[in-house]
Amino acid sequence: MAEATTLRKKHEDQGYILQKESALSKAIVAELRQRRGHTAFQWVKGHQGHDLNELADELAGKAAEKSRGNRVSTKVPDRLVVTGARLDAMTQALAYKAIRQRRDAATDPRPRTVKTVKYVLSDLKTDFGADLHERTLWTSLRKKDLITKEARQWMWMVLHDAYWIGNKWLEASMPADLQDRAFCTHCNSLEDMTHILFACEEPGREIVWDLLTEHWQNAGGPLIAPTWGSVLGAACVPIVDDEGARKTTLERRWTILATESAHLIWKLRCERVIGRENEPFSEIEVRNRWYATLDRRLDLERRYAALTEGRKRAKRLHAVEAIWAPLIQDDEDLPPNWVEKCGVLVGICRTPYDRLGQG
Ligand SMILES: [Zn+2]
Repeated sequence: MAEATTLRKKHEDQGYILQKESALSKAIVAELRQRRGHTAFQWVKGHQGHDLNELADELAGKAAEKSRGNRVSTKVPDRLVVTGARLDAMTQALAYKAIRQRRDAATDPRPRTVKTVKYVLSDLKTDFGADLHERTLWTSLRKKDLITKEARQWMWMVLHDAYWIGNKWLEASMPADLQDRAFCTHCNSLEDMTHILFACEEPGREIVWDLLTEHWQNAGGPLIAPTWGSVLGAACVPIVDDEGARKTTLERRWTILATESAHLIWKLRCERVIGRENEPFSEIEVRNRWYATLDRRLDLERRYAALTEGRKRAKRLHAVEAIWAPLIQDDEDLPPNWVEKCGVLVGICRTPYDRLGQG
């Protein structure tokens, strides 16, 4: 309510540029100005049995369960409209923000992006009870210590549905002889990203997900099925203990394994279609690629942590050890400082199947 009382003058002077719910605030202020009587506000402590506060809580609870929000009119009568910012309240930073806001408002989100983002957010909600804003998903892609640059770029392209696959080949402007490319040569289904990551019957896809699941669960992770939410939203997946506290080491481990695995499925698919004339990879080839990917990643994390200087160093070494130790071979035989000791050779623990295969 501060928006309508103590902060009102500041926001009006600044033309509401820094305020997120400006339409709503402006409507409330206009509503108050229209009243003939004097309006007084009194603060009450929440959840303390105050009748009207309880009622407001109840109404808010009901509204939150609705499948779509109510339309609230934020129209302000012309005579009460306050436009622009006061010149003496304007700074260069404020002006820059105002320009950015106008530009952002003018660009509509792409329908294809809206659709994929919806897949991810609704999976995260159904599977993990995480009710997240789109912004959280986009910021999660910036976790540089968890998602490699290549995987980040790939996820960004996937979320924008920007790859030339599936029904893009069926657009009217496409020459008829290229329309076959819309379909998976292995299964004859439409080859969109859902097909490539979660449905294609080409064996490599399933082998990668099985390897991920096996290693993830062996290292103490709860069962997580690969979906749009758990993979493209990998850095948003909440993992909690019985008391509801976040298990950040597990969350980080999931983000690394899920994004590396998904990106590998995409790379294998592209190599198969473009470089191998659709000749599938053998099981051994796929398994070796998965181990090579994760071994390389572990190597990179160790070297990066060892090169870190100053206050962050100990924290970083500890994080790498916590995330990776349960995933590596013979971790109980390792010297205590294995993360930073470059002479110590470590690799992802091979499953009994892979040990036999190589022995
Ligand atoms: Zn397929």
